[in-house]
Amino acid sequence: MKKVSAYAAASPKSPLAPTTIERRDPGPKDLSIEILYAGICHSDIHQARDEWGGARFPMVPGHEIVGRVTAVGAEVTKLRVGDLAGVGCMVDSCRVCGPCREDVEQFCESGCAFTYNSTEMDRTTPTFGGYSTDLVVDERFALRIPAGLDPAAAAPLLCAGITTYSPLKRLGVKPGDRVGVVGLGGLGHMAVKLAASMGAEVTVLSTSRAKEADARRLGAVGFEVTNDEATFQKLAGRLDVVIDTVSAPHDYNAYLGLLRPRGTMTLVGAPPEPTALNAFALIGGAKRLTGSLIGGIAETQEMLDYCGERGIASDVEIIPIQDVNKAYERMLRGDVRYRFVIDIASLRG
Ligand code: NAP
Ligand code: ZN
Ligand code: ZN
Repeated sequence: MKKVSAYAAASPKSPLAPTTIERRDPGPKDLSIEILYAGICHSDIHQARDEWGGARFPMVPGHEIVGRVTAVGAEVTKLRVGDLAGVGCMVDSCRVCGPCREDVEQFCESGCAFTYNSTEMDRTTPTFGGYSTDLVVDERFALRIPAGLDPAAAAPLLCAGITTYSPLKRLGVKPGDRVGVVGLGGLGHMAVKLAASMGAEVTVLSTSRAKEADARRLGAVGFEVTNDEATFQKLAGRLDVVIDTVSAPHDYNAYLGLLRPRGTMTLVGAPPEPTALNAFALIGGAKRLTGSLIGGIAETQEMLDYCGERGIASDVEIIPIQDVNKAYERMLRGDVRYRFVIDIASLRG
């Protein structure tokens, strides 16, 4: 065991504060990683405040991790000492069930081991995330970071990137498709970049008029504010796909109205409270409402390689870990352009 520095929430009501945690001794298939950067996902806030229920404390959030490999076990082949490594939302799974064999470990029948707010597959050892100096992970759940991507800007790909890439791929988004992205935050800005890179005509639907210029710079051809009823009339029946990244409750029915017949809306945003769904919003036009949860390890590597080839990464604001609580408050106000990334050097001191 090695004691390492971290930031943790002691309870749903406590701010994050410095602490120490233990990392296991690396086994033959493990990598030891010195963490360089950790992105701040809105899921970190939902979980640190126990908004989804069942949270485990103390909690060290962080599942958008990029670090440097400092040691490898004897059986490791994927990465070498000195390589950059990424770790996303999962650190293990049963590996033998149907979903694990089909490369969707996030749906492991035993429940995968999430990077934090979870346990290892022994179901007793708590897992702790990337707001810490070091991590030990099985190579199977580590990702290669393509050369040429800035490591800080690549960190958010490990969650925001894969969470938006996966549904765009699954829905077969192709040149000329009209894709609406609801909410221009961490996930939303990656959805815009990725959908535009696939040739889609992207429209951003935002509560913040001030984000219009950014939306266009990120690759959107359209921008509409959602607090104006005229938006819903103007775009009615026009979109092939809607990717909804909003973190707070809102009216899904209104956005379903923007789909063309047989179009698909995918929820990736995970508001804690339920929203009423009107059957007629789906029946008229045989529309589809789906959801998507991160992506499997193989698809995450595919996404990283895709981004590496095209120079796609996140727009980041790098902060010292001492500012993490302020960053949470700013995110809750929609004041982030477009992902906070913690420089973990600030935790080494
Ligand atoms: P974020 O950076 O805070 O972005 C969320 C955006 O939603 C905001 O920037 C804002 O965009 C919009 N928004 C916020 N509150 C709103 C409200 N009350 N009404 C309308 N729009 C609002 O968060 P994120 O990190 O992208 O995460 C977004 C959501 O996805 C969270 O719920 C998170 O837990 C979830 N998530 C899901 C997965 C998955 O696998 N499905 C993975 C990661 C995250 P505008 O200013 O443009 O309106
Ligand atoms: Zn996330
Ligand atoms: Zn499994």
